[in-house]
Amino acid sequence: MSTVRTQPLQPLNNGQLNARTNVTPIKPTRKGKEEDKGKKKKEKLSALCKTPPSIVRTRNGRDYRRGTFLGEGGFARCFQMKDSSGRIYAAKTVAKASIKNEKTKTKLLSEIKIHKSLKHANIVNFVDCFEDDINVYILLEICPNQSLMELLKVRKRVTEPEARFFLVQIVGAIQYLHSRRVIHRDLKLGNIFFDPEMNLKIGDFGLASVLPSTDSRKYTICGTPNYIAPEVLGGKNTGHSFEVDIWAIGIMMYALLIGKPPFQAKDVQVIYERIKKSDYSFPPDKPISDEAKILINDLLSLNPLHRPNVNEILNYDWFKGSFPDKTHEISLSGTPEGLENISKAQSAINFTNTKVSAGIYTPRNKNPVEILRSDLHSEQPRAMLPKSLSPGDTRSKYQEVDPYQLGRPRRVNFNSSFSASIKYLNQVCFETYQNIRKLEYSKYDRIDTMELPSCENPTLISKWVDYSNKYGFSYQLNNNDIGVLFNDENTFLKLHDSDRFLELIYQENEGWTCIENSASHPPSQARRQLEIVDFFAKYMNSNLSKVSENEDRKETVFLRRYTRTADYIMFEMTNGNFQFNFKDHHKICISKNGLAITHVSPNRIAQTHPLIFILKQGNFPSTEVPDCLEKIHTIKDAIKRKAFKE
Ligand code: ADP
Repeated sequence: MSTVRTQPLQPLNNGQLNARTNVTPIKPTRKGKEEDKGKKKKEKLSALCKTPPSIVRTRNGRDYRRGTFLGEGGFARCFQMKDSSGRIYAAKTVAKASIKNEKTKTKLLSEIKIHKSLKHANIVNFVDCFEDDINVYILLEICPNQSLMELLKVRKRVTEPEARFFLVQIVGAIQYLHSRRVIHRDLKLGNIFFDPEMNLKIGDFGLASVLPSTDSRKYTICGTPNYIAPEVLGGKNTGHSFEVDIWAIGIMMYALLIGKPPFQAKDVQVIYERIKKSDYSFPPDKPISDEAKILINDLLSLNPLHRPNVNEILNYDWFKGSFPDKTHEISLSGTPEGLENISKAQSAINFTNTKVSAGIYTPRNKNPVEILRSDLHSEQPRAMLPKSLSPGDTRSKYQEVDPYQLGRPRRVNFNSSFSASIKYLNQVCFETYQNIRKLEYSKYDRIDTMELPSCENPTLISKWVDYSNKYGFSYQLNNNDIGVLFNDENTFLKLHDSDRFLELIYQENEGWTCIENSASHPPSQARRQLEIVDFFAKYMNSNLSKVSENEDRKETVFLRRYTRTADYIMFEMTNGNFQFNFKDHHKICISKNGLAITHVSPNRIAQTHPLIFILKQGNFPSTEVPDCLEKIHTIKDAIKRKAFKE
């Protein structure tokens, strides 16, 4: 039995690895995994790795007994190693003969350094690292159930519930990596392993990179052909970032559900051409849900900025489907039964538990805090705001009263439908976009079974004046309230049927704090703004005609922000509605999170219907809207841009 004494690796930047010459250099593109049909046949560097001695002894006296061969990649071979207590690990073994130049050495050191710094339930745990004369050993947590690649080989396709569970674990790990500015850059089924409990663990950090800042970019072309993102193929011209991992999630999701990667071809160049055009389709003989297609389509957006980020993926409707409690071992060999029939309630619990185990925390959706005049007990409301809310205070102090951290929202005698936190509005924006897409995709064949929204006419902006070069943007609502969105982003809202006005103080990224005041006895610091509101009110009343007839106030709502383009002005309201005034004088409002649509004709007739009906019929029933579907398309794109914060 041969025993080799090894040296513990010293701090990695000192480089204790002995490089040898005469070895083929590693190209940035790593090939060699079986799953990549596009690879060229070429000798793998892992072939230089000889079987390690049966006992490997580290310098500080630990003995590891080598066990069976576990597998091989392009660079390393992996063996079981058992320590003296009987605990088993995987030793990723890299032949020193393959580390022939500084660049390769630096890359291996970087892999070790990055991997060593990571600790997450869904990342293969790094245990130790040492070397002997012929090899470098990276001791890892053992994943004895192989990878998703082997599972797919056996199974051909997996069910959607299984894939949902996999994706949550993968997303949890990537969320963790991205939060530490690590891009994996080689995510693929063959690099995602099963631990003994059948939890997924991401491994192989050979191409991982830590970005110095979140907005810096990488330029090296690397990855595995089937999984490479289009912007990576752009190389030096475009650069790439975290979104390459999101693209890879899309490839994996497609491969799991359809059975092969979307751009698969014999010739690598053909794969690349397809990737650059995002040229793929869903084969009709392998049906998958519309919700899955929507998510895949978004993950595989050519424009990296159109892909959902790692925090947005799990908000997709696809995750609302049947969700198992865990991955059962049976999945390795055959299709588990009954996974499609897990109840909605149980699925929701399983989904939450899986997210929590994967380190994903989503705060419960609570209503935002409202600060009411009755809370303030003062004639000078601003001065009496809780310290943590006073303007100019720091964000972290503001969070002391973050609604997510308070037990119950404070809500006294103020219109109870007021809810305007930025988090909530961003969520509504995202859901609105998703719902419009879902309705388009549904091919309108499920109307009978769909929940249809109630269709009362929403609160609309009926007149507006853009005076933002001086004061701000003024508008009148169809409930006759008048608002001014001042250039400092605060809003004054004068309620038409009372002596009251609301000062809505905007706190960046958080939302609005509301202070209610008397218009006849305004606090001195608000007088100037109130004069401006009155000025606009007079102007609008004498100069502008209304968009729609008067409605009673159903809710307190005001303008969050507006966007002007050559074709329309878009209003985003604090009730989550989106109003579009097109230049042909037709107006369309999307409400109920994208499920309802309102048309206001040039002669001020408003009608609201479920969006699905309008999509199905191609137009509104009583009034013909010119280019109706095109307008809806424009609206969807505009909301999408907001949802993805372009
Ligand atoms: P490379 O850097 O050469 O691509 P990998 O990290 O992909 O190497 O590992 C090569 C192979 O070793 C894998 O395909 C797998 O079969 C096996 N392997 C890697 N890590 C583990 C592990 N933690 N547990 C069990 N097997 C592993």
